Amino acid sequence: MTDRKIALITGGSRGIGLACAKELAKAGCDIIINDICDAEKAQPAIDELKALGVNAYFYSFDVSNYDAVKENVDKMIAEHGKIDILLNNAGITRDGLFLRMDMNQWESVIKVNLTSAFCVTNAVIKYMMKARQGSIINMSSIVGRHGNAGQANYSASKAGLIGFTQTLAKEFGSRNIRVNAVCPGFIQTAMTAELANIDDYLAAIPMKRLGTPEDIAKVVKFLALDTDYVTGQAIEVAGGLMI
Ligand code: NAP
Repeated sequence: MTDRKIALITGGSRGIGLACAKELAKAGCDIIINDICDAEKAQPAIDELKALGVNAYFYSFDVSNYDAVKENVDKMIAEHGKIDILLNNAGITRDGLFLRMDMNQWESVIKVNLTSAFCVTNAVIKYMMKARQGSIINMSSIVGRHGNAGQANYSASKAGLIGFTQTLAKEFGSRNIRVNAVCPGFIQTAMTAELANIDDYLAAIPMKRLGTPEDIAKVVKFLALDTDYVTGQAIEVAGGLMI
């Protein structure tokens, strides 16, 4: 088993997940990225991570499929021995005003954004308990705290992650497992590339710019590696939006 810490990052082949993977790799962690895409599509991310001098592995599975998650996490432990850091990052949007939101929009977002955190954490935590240490970080959102018109499904899933975070922090603190959430504001990724009213958002952000994936990655690295006593927190990283 490696002496390095090993971080599992879901939805890690691009966007915020990949930036977090790179930040943790720069700090010397080996990286396991998951995504729903095939290995060929994730290969550039793996190459970027390996170029930082660490080991990097890819596992393709749907984070909201309980059986697939369990099978893959057990395989990771058999192949790499441990998971020290878990970043539940995979997420989707299916936006629409509430009156037009259908059941499929609701269920798909709750499943991929919230049920997934149950599935992956459920599979990983028993290994963290055996190791008597671990850091779990859930990628929530500023809209999980404050809501956003057109995102009833998404904001409910992200608010759910905050309650999940606080509860697990209480249940697992005595096992030396810390659980925190990060709440990004508007970050430049594929997810926000199609935002129509970007100028309205910029006007509301005191720092007058969208965030970058690296802005989020720095806070994830802090929670994962630089503190031993922060748990149960949901940290907004949003350039001052909503203050
Ligand atoms: P992104 O670029 O769309 O990346 C999301 C990743 O999740 C993709 O790699 C995607 O895979 C993967 N994914 C989707 N469904 C999956 C599933 N069922 N199983 C496994 N992987 C799956 O989004 P992002 O902007 O980096 O967002 C990352 C996280 O930050 C999300 O949880 C998002 O809600 C949150 N967030 C983002 C913002 C923002 O402004 N961008 C703000 C607040 C919170 P494919 O590439 O194969 O589709």
